Amino acid sequence: MQPGSVSDVFAAVWPTIFALDLSRYVLFASLLAAVLAVFAGPLASRRIQSRRASGKDVRREISFSLSTVVLFSLVGFSVYLGSQAGVFRVYGGDMPSVGHMLAEFAAMVLLHDAYFYWAHRVMHTRWLFRRVHRIHHKSRTPTPWAAYAFAPPEAILEASILPLAALLLPLHEFTVLLFVTHMIVRNVIGHAGVELFPSWWLRVPLLRWITTTTHHDLHHSHGGYNFGLYFTWWDRWMKTEHPEYASRFMAVTRSTCPLKLPAKENFNE
Ligand SMILES: [Zn+2]
Ligand SMILES: [Zn+2]
Repeated sequence: MQPGSVSDVFAAVWPTIFALDLSRYVLFASLLAAVLAVFAGPLASRRIQSRRASGKDVRREISFSLSTVVLFSLVGFSVYLGSQAGVFRVYGGDMPSVGHMLAEFAAMVLLHDAYFYWAHRVMHTRWLFRRVHRIHHKSRTPTPWAAYAFAPPEAILEASILPLAALLLPLHEFTVLLFVTHMIVRNVIGHAGVELFPSWWLRVPLLRWITTTTHHDLHHSHGGYNFGLYFTWWDRWMKTEHPEYASRFMAVTRSTCPLKLPAKENFNE
């Protein structure tokens, strides 16, 4: 690479990465927010908390999410540069077979799930919680806009899964695109505030390992539980699953009565 060419590459490549990161967040968060607004009546019985997010909450969620989008795009650009230099293993060219791509995607999702659980546990240590992770937990009653509402140091930590995965795994560009799309979809669903999964979800052995909205919502209302992202197994193994997860899920998918939160919650149990 010629001297000075990094800024040329930045000017040529980063705007596209930024536009993809931004449009992914805006598209899926606004789509789900619109669905929740349009179907507010029929979905009222599926509200997980009786408390409502305020306009101030939503504005804070959007502004931190936008700062996260900028940081994600910068990390994405670093991975692009590192892949050009042969440090990372992201490759382009011909599309791999569907089976190959799904194998890459599954490996990436499993890696991210483990990474997220442990990074999240570290974020809940007292020092880091107060200085960094507290921003995300200001959304006590989250909305889809909270999907990327992280303080900048946490945004960098969250984004670091990409270079880590690209160091360990060969990844086609399209697999990376699939991965980040899946990530935002699961993130907005986890912060919906309304249970979107069918009532039979936890009764199906293969499906109950996939986290529902209630799973992550309970993390926002009871910070000492449910640190997992895509799957429930890390919380099961480490005994951090909320003891009432299943009963709350069943209540919110069957009952017309929203769950009342205790008056005061300790976020950092
Ligand atoms: Zn959250
Ligand atoms: Zn947390």
